[in-house]
Amino acid sequence: MREPLLKVESLTKAFPIRSGLLKRQTGAVQAVNGVDFHIDAGETLGLVGESGCGKSTTGRCVLRLIEPTSGDIIFEGKNVRALDGGALRALRRDIQIIFQDPYASLNPRMSVGAIIGEALVIHKLAKTGREFDDRVVSLLETVGLKADHRTRFPHEFSGGQRQRIGIARALAVEPKLIICDEPVSALDVSIQAQVINLLEDLQQKFGLAYLFVAHDLSVVEHISRRVAVMYLGRIVEMAESRALYASPKHPYTEALLSAVPIPDPKVKRQRIRLSGEVPSPANPPSGCHFHARCPIAKPLCSKEVPKLKQSADGHWVACHLR
Ligand code: SF4
Repeated sequence: MREPLLKVESLTKAFPIRSGLLKRQTGAVQAVNGVDFHIDAGETLGLVGESGCGKSTTGRCVLRLIEPTSGDIIFEGKNVRALDGGALRALRRDIQIIFQDPYASLNPRMSVGAIIGEALVIHKLAKTGREFDDRVVSLLETVGLKADHRTRFPHEFSGGQRQRIGIARALAVEPKLIICDEPVSALDVSIQAQVINLLEDLQQKFGLAYLFVAHDLSVVEHISRRVAVMYLGRIVEMAESRALYASPKHPYTEALLSAVPIPDPKVKRQRIRLSGEVPSPANPPSGCHFHARCPIAKPLCSKEVPKLKQSADGHWVACHLR
């Protein structure tokens, strides 16, 4: 069996809470709590959950933009947590990231050509000015922009175009994996579809793998081969996309799916409304973190943490009752 491109095992990230004059640590926010998953070359794993569930932190830990507290991140057989200096720079060529807010992530004082070409300079990927220019133009055209856009500045573009610039910047170094951190959340629905289609086309063309982070299951449905659902720092369900959408097993996934609109007006789906808000990760509930909001919770649920078990081939669920 081929090794996955990326393997994440028992990943945790705790952010210290400090208070008082001396800023002593008085607690910790357990943003990511024992997360395991893998991504094969050329595939997309969707990572979904409400805001604050730890999905973006997980993505940033993979790239070491945030240092994990514990756990293993193995990329192409290399332990990412042990890398530094040149090896870490090389990793950041193989793994790129696209951010949610394409405007905030583009330097407003740099031209689009300079933004896209910056990584070519850092990684010494263009030997001459001509080569640099040709590569920037080719990247712009690859993402559906025009050659003369390279002399313009980010504020001259729409949100969708700015996200295309972010994608071109990520592609410049020919990565193998892109962390897509809510790349369409800030865009209109019609533009969202265009950007997702573009990402799918690029995946076909370049054999890219994606970790696609989103708060909405409908966004990741078509682009993901598998989907993992996170709740308060833990993965509660993970399955092939088709299996997860056709027969979700975890009550939280059921509730998330019930909120996804169905295009066929004849098909009715009953909306499951969850009570209460997502609890604070600084003070999570005991046992199953979901027990206070779960419509089928039993006394055991507040006492024991349910393990993520495989319930059918490739369908994993963390629930005492499923
Ligand atoms: Fe609900 Fe209990 Fe399952 Fe958690 S373990 S999802 S509280 S039934």
